[in-house]
Amino acid sequence: MDLSPLGKGRIYLATGAGTLFCVCAALFIDSFNFGSMSPEVLLRAILVDTLLPTALAGPLIWYFMSKLRALAIAHERLAIFASTDPLTGVLNRGALTALVEQRLASTPTDGLPVRGALLILDADNFKSINDSYGHEQGDVALKLITGATKDVLRKTDLLGRIGGEEFCVFLPNATQLTADAIGERIRRAVSVVRFTPGDQSHRLSVSIGGAVFDRRLPLSDLLRIADQQLYAAKQNGRNRVSISPIVQYESVPAAAA
Ligand code: GH3
Ligand code: MG
Ligand code: MG
Repeated sequence: MDLSPLGKGRIYLATGAGTLFCVCAALFIDSFNFGSMSPEVLLRAILVDTLLPTALAGPLIWYFMSKLRALAIAHERLAIFASTDPLTGVLNRGALTALVEQRLASTPTDGLPVRGALLILDADNFKSINDSYGHEQGDVALKLITGATKDVLRKTDLLGRIGGEEFCVFLPNATQLTADAIGERIRRAVSVVRFTPGDQSHRLSVSIGGAVFDRRLPLSDLLRIADQQLYAAKQNGRNRVSISPIVQYESVPAAAA
């Protein structure tokens, strides 16, 4: 039985338990008079004490619990609506940021230190897709890129659209090796997507920048480093993956100084 706020189980259980409670309360209160009643009056009193609360409390509790369930469903729908990007169906910027910050702040249950990777994906030469085939086809391309990316991610990873043709992927517990492998899998998956606007074949690609971390860090630092790696990937010719560990990244300015 589904006892969650969204399930009907709660309605059945609350109605049953609530009605039983009201019947018991009526019987208990009336029981002080039972001793002075004749058998016929006693039977009538017990019937009244049982049927009246059942007829009154049962439907009332059912009604209130149904309203509560409807509210919970509406709340759930609103929460999904407020956190989802309407075009691609993945998390929007606000929701992704909140979830990543929550994960970065939480203490891992496996005893391992907080670690993982954050990737930023940016569609290559996307403006030319809109210019050549129109905005609608651009939207189709964005959905295809999202689908291809989603397909290679693990269940625990997070994917969000953080800008027009920019996406962010959070890989909890990922090492440099894992992050490189997933980044490369995303890049390859997007590059083989079948995108045929106006009966022409157009090859899609994304550039990926990333930051691998092995300790608690503010999200803004991760985004900044991933963004700089993305810039490097674009500079090196696009359709590339460039992921840097934070340590290595931090040692660069130190060595240069
Ligand atoms: P680069 O490889 O350097 O990233 O080049 P680019 O053309 O992808 O980058 P630029 O920032 O010049 O253009 C991004 C384009 O993405 C411009 C904008 O029209 C398009 N875009 C942003 N949001 C959407 C959207 O929701 N739908 C569509 N169809 N296009 C969008
Ligand atoms: Mg961009
Ligand atoms: Mg772009």
